[in-house]
Order: sequence, then structure tokens, then C-alpha cells
Amino acid sequence: MIKQKATGNLVVISGPSGCGKGTICKELIKRNKNIKLSISMTTRKPRAQEIDGRDYYFITKEEFEKRIKENKFLEYAKVHHDNYYGTPKDKIDEYTKKGIDVIAEIDINGALQINNEIKEAIFIFIMPPSMKELKSRLIKRNTECKEQIVERFTKAYQEINYVSKYNYVVINDKIEKAVQKIEAILLSEKCRVDRIEDIDLNNKEEMIHELLMEDK
Ligand code: 5GP
Repeated sequence: MIKQKATGNLVVISGPSGCGKGTICKELIKRNKNIKLSISMTTRKPRAQEIDGRDYYFITKEEFEKRIKENKFLEYAKVHHDNYYGTPKDKIDEYTKKGIDVIAEIDINGALQINNEIKEAIFIFIMPPSMKELKSRLIKRNTECKEQIVERFTKAYQEINYVSKYNYVVINDKIEKAVQKIEAILLSEKCRVDRIEDIDLNNKEEMIHELLMEDK
């Protein structure tokens, strides 16, 4: 009687380096079989524990630029240290058509590009509980050298100014709570009025007639 859109949503998640967005996204896909992560392509070198095809597709600058020319990215940007990062188009369409929500964990430049292209995408900004906490998380995770930590921390101040471009903000105080909040956002988005495709009320007379004929 009521038909709702069965397609999945594209969910764009951004936030400053060290805010915990990577951990949140991994937890979301672990818990929900109807949420998948878009695996980005990058020209950055893999870190020790990273696996090609799981964390990123690690490709050369030449390959990346070839793909730009072939229009294979939904968005792309130079994020850290002159490295390209981009969201491949193909998987997003494949998943959303099947009713699966796809998370693109990308930077603000990329998010703004998607905002121009796909109005119905959901934009979520992850905030650290404080800048002091962000600083200590960046130091503790021990994945960048001092110079890179300073670069990322400085950039965080600019990035936070863009929060108003997003639909939702989630403060990552505790991972568990942040994950629950995003699950709630995704569930609410599925109930939006604009996801109704059809309300069939054509059998009104028949229904009322049936009701009148029914024994008490
Ligand atoms: P990493 O710490 O992996 O070197 O850098 C991650 C940064 O690049 C994060 O800010 C992340 O959101 C961003 N990023 C990862 N993949 C993409 C992508 O496909 N496009 C854009 N624009 N940014 C990305």
C-alpha cells in the first residue's frame, strides 16, 4: 500500500584526523550487514598494517591521473602531503541499488564535491570532544611523525569551521555511543517522507464496505 524507496544511501563521513572516524566506520560495517565502506584509491604509501584492497587501493600518481581523465571518481582531492585520495564511482552505484548504505570516509573538499553532485547524500561530521583530546589522540596513535602530527592538528582547526556544511554532527566521546548515534541517523533517514514513492489509497470504498459488512 505504501511504497518506499528501497535504495541505500550514500553516507559521507568527515572529521579531523584523529577524531576516530576510521574506528567508527569499521565498527559500523562490522555490526551492520547493510552498511558497506567505499574503499578509496590513494597515491599515499601504505602504512605497516595496511592492506591493499582493504584499507585503500594503493595506486601510482600516473594511474590516479589516468582515472581522473576517465571520469572514474565521484570525487577526489589532494589531502595530505600532496597525495591524491579519491572515491571510485562504480561500487557506490552497485551497493546503493541493492539497498545497501555506503559510507565514504573522506575529507571536506571531497564532501563538498559530492554535495554539489548528489543532493540526497547524508553528510555526517565527526568531532573530537575537545582539541586537547584530539591532540593527545594524534600523539598516542603513533602513526605519523611530529611534523605530520602538527600539520594534521593545524588543519583540524580549519576543518571544524566546515561543520555547518554537514547535516549531522556526532561528537566522538565514546566509540560505542558515536556508533549508536550514526546507526540512529541512518535509520531515521530511511523514514524520511521524501523516500515515499507511492501511497495507494485506491481501495478506499472496498475497505469501508468490508468494514461495514463485518460482524462486530
Ligand atoms: P590517511 O590518514 O589515510 O592518510 O588520510 C586520511 C584522510 O584522507 C582523511 O581525512 C580521510 O577522510 C581522507 N580521505 C580518505 N579517502 C578519501 C577519498 O576518497 N577522498 C577524499 N577526498 N578524501 C579521502
